[in-house]
Amino acid sequence: MTSPTGGCHCRKVRYIINGNPLVCYACHCTDCQSFSGSAFGLSMILQQPDIELTSGMLSINEYELNGKTRQRHHCADCGIAVWLSSPSFGPIVVLKPGTLDDTSSFKPDAHVWYRSAQPWIDVGSDVPVYQEQPEISELLALGRR
Ligand SMILES: [Zn+2]
Ligand SMILES: [Zn+2]
Repeated sequence: MTSPTGGCHCRKVRYIINGNPLVCYACHCTDCQSFSGSAFGLSMILQQPDIELTSGMLSINEYELNGKTRQRHHCADCGIAVWLSSPSFGPIVVLKPGTLDDTSSFKPDAHVWYRSAQPWIDVGSDVPVYQEQPEISELLALGRR
């Protein structure tokens, strides 16, 4: 299998993934709706050493959300956030998998905060659906299946 690649919208920032994601999920919470400007957020959790930039540079801005510091790693030119990190997350990054070159490899292991989902969304029943936020250990266990 070749290592997945991706990058920002203007293609100045490019990355390669050299490991397997710990877990992938779709989050329907209202924070993810406003962050993504869309109906839900997609997240691919990776160990920090498993992703590296192959071109360009990421700018980082920090902000507080629900009392936690978030670091938004984005392209200074097009502004697109490629991944998020947080001192409270530990040595992981939360990749935004819509930035992958081939998004067909992305499939969520779970849907979370489904109680906030847009009413026209029907995710089916292939993967676990949580009405709120499950424990991170529970999510990680799904990724290991
Ligand atoms: Zn860019
Ligand atoms: Zn969310």
